Amino acid sequence: MEREELKAIIKKIVTDKLNVAETEIPIGVSNRHIHLTEKDYKQLFPDEPIQVKKWLKQPGEFAAEQTLTVVSDKGELQRVRILGPLRKFSQVELSKTDARMLGMKIPIRVSGDIEGTPGIKLVSKYGEVCLPKGAIIAKRHIHLPESVANEYGVKQGEEVSVLVGSEIRSVVLNHCTIRINNQFIPEMHIDTDEANAADIAGDSFAKIIKS
Ligand SMILES: [Zn+2]
Repeated sequence: MEREELKAIIKKIVTDKLNVAETEIPIGVSNRHIHLTEKDYKQLFPDEPIQVKKWLKQPGEFAAEQTLTVVSDKGELQRVRILGPLRKFSQVELSKTDARMLGMKIPIRVSGDIEGTPGIKLVSKYGEVCLPKGAIIAKRHIHLPESVANEYGVKQGEEVSVLVGSEIRSVVLNHCTIRINNQFIPEMHIDTDEANAADIAGDSFAKIIKS
């Protein structure tokens, strides 16, 4: 039997057993990154406007040219990219592996839910900012416009289980939060730890498991 044929059969067995949705959702892997308020940005880059390095899939979102060093009491991560546009709150999104390297205990939170999260220091070549809070491990989520959400029969804030990964290393990710906005392009966001666990490469897709 050809290798491709065998892969197709394995995929069919896995998906049939789990009752997954027909439609596949593209996966976006989020590397560690930083969101900043205008005030914090200006303190770190007084005379340097934020510049677009690469547009991301979600409309208006971009990876900036500017990067920062993230510093804890026990370690640091260099060249952590800032994502634009600037926001109403500053937030640092790290993986569990990053947290371990920084010797920090960081909670898993939905983006923007930063009350009670640990603070962290950000350093540029011009200055530094000590965020009093805002270090999180981003909770896995799926961006959907309303029309597609209706197709799947899912609601804002609902948690779903999703089959992701390659044929030889697929995993089911539970507690994946649905985020609906008509500006969104369908995309599942996971971090680098989750992507590595499921062997996510360039062209991987996710499928929502129907309950
Ligand atoms: Zn996202």
